[in-house]
Amino acid sequence: MSEKKIPYKIYLEESEMPKQWYNVRADMKNKPEPLLNPGTLKPMSFEELQGVFCDELVRQELNDTDAYIDIPEEIRNFYKMYRPAPLVRAYCLEKKLGTPAKIYYKFEGNNTSGSHKLNSAIAQAYYAKEQGLKGVTTETGAGQWGTALSMACSYFDLDCRVYMVKVSYEQKPFRREVMRTYGAKVTPSPSDTTNVGRKILEEFPGTGGSLGCAISEAVEAATGMEGYRYVLGSVLSQVLLHQSIIGEETKAAFKKYDIKPDIIIGCAGGGSNLGGLISPFVGEKLRGEADYRIIAVEPASCPSLTRGKYVYDFCDTGKVCPLAKMYTLGSGFMPAPNHAGGLRYHGMSSVVSRLYHDGLLEAVAVEQTSVFEAAEQFARVEGILPAPESSHAIKVAIDEALKCKETGEEKTIVFGLTGTGYFDMVAYEKFHNGEMSDYVPSDEDLAKGFAGIPSFPGNEVF
Ligand SMILES: *Cc1c(COP(=O)(O)O)cnc(C)c1O
Repeated sequence: MSEKKIPYKIYLEESEMPKQWYNVRADMKNKPEPLLNPGTLKPMSFEELQGVFCDELVRQELNDTDAYIDIPEEIRNFYKMYRPAPLVRAYCLEKKLGTPAKIYYKFEGNNTSGSHKLNSAIAQAYYAKEQGLKGVTTETGAGQWGTALSMACSYFDLDCRVYMVKVSYEQKPFRREVMRTYGAKVTPSPSDTTNVGRKILEEFPGTGGSLGCAISEAVEAATGMEGYRYVLGSVLSQVLLHQSIIGEETKAAFKKYDIKPDIIIGCAGGGSNLGGLISPFVGEKLRGEADYRIIAVEPASCPSLTRGKYVYDFCDTGKVCPLAKMYTLGSGFMPAPNHAGGLRYHGMSSVVSRLYHDGLLEAVAVEQTSVFEAAEQFARVEGILPAPESSHAIKVAIDEALKCKETGEEKTIVFGLTGTGYFDMVAYEKFHNGEMSDYVPSDEDLAKGFAGIPSFPGNEVF
């Protein structure tokens, strides 16, 4: 058997970049459940969603049938500024671990926003511009999404208003300033600029805010201003669609060298990078063409897949958004304050939730000190300083590679390295100083979050 020599980095040519996104919903027999209007409990119609999101993005959100959707040329041109992203063979990590496993990672951190989020930000900004809108509003937690969106909006000359979770606004001034460099207006949330923000401030004075709360504010701001729409960086099916570029490039790069992965691993916050990475592979699984082991990795402190309920829930704290059927911890759930590793959203993309529910992927929850240990181990041999979020996937990739060391199996493992961690050095500092602790919510803690899940016939939480 002659094997082609695998380079350290597999790059596609620009001409080999995917020209279409892949919509895994088209191949799913069990479709993800539709978004519901919280008032009527009926599926959200095009017209209802149109008030919140751009028209074309609503069409994509509701499209469960077209497997391939053309990527407009302007978006492809923007992609070329930082894509194709390399598929890296982690030779140095393999050597360090002494494993017969072959480890690959798809590196999405090679742009100023430092994460995969730009893949969807540029698509959403493009459709907003095409519709003739003035601007968009959004929320951001640690700031990666806000940064990506501000870059995309400046490219298309759109106004960008970002509601940033207040603790991050105060504790992470660098991302905030990157956003302002690209022209975004950044408001700490909760703020007194919206009704929902004022209400939350009244109820919880001094709160540091949450993603769910910032979402409510951004939606209210968008619907209250002429020529504005709301955009979201994860969770939605349209975002997973845009992120399918990750999986398609990965598949094309493997194909060049006749490689078939055995295990595909991604970190899961709202599910967008994971969904994007796995989509083309899950498609093969759904069509019965191939089989892969797929693992979603989440923090033990915010375990929506491994310990959440699969029910309809609110997407935001202010309960202004549609209901989504997903694995959820309840919209009132907040991870413990010592949680530093990101991935803190209470729910999970309804596409990923459905696939998980149907047994197409597995999920594991890992504790944050073990995640930072893996991050450091990776950084020291592979050079890249990984984002804490991405490091959840690194942790499980290393675990799987070490299992191969025990069994002698030469499995091919690929994971999504979603971004870099330069703006997360406070978390790394805590880890280095031995001040980082692990927190796993008790069943009683989780019960409090579950209590906030809306109850209606067919949606009982037992
Ligand atoms: C936002 C983010 C994530 C998690 O979001 P998903 O929607 O679950 O992909 C993971 N890694 C990085 C670097 C991020 O910025």
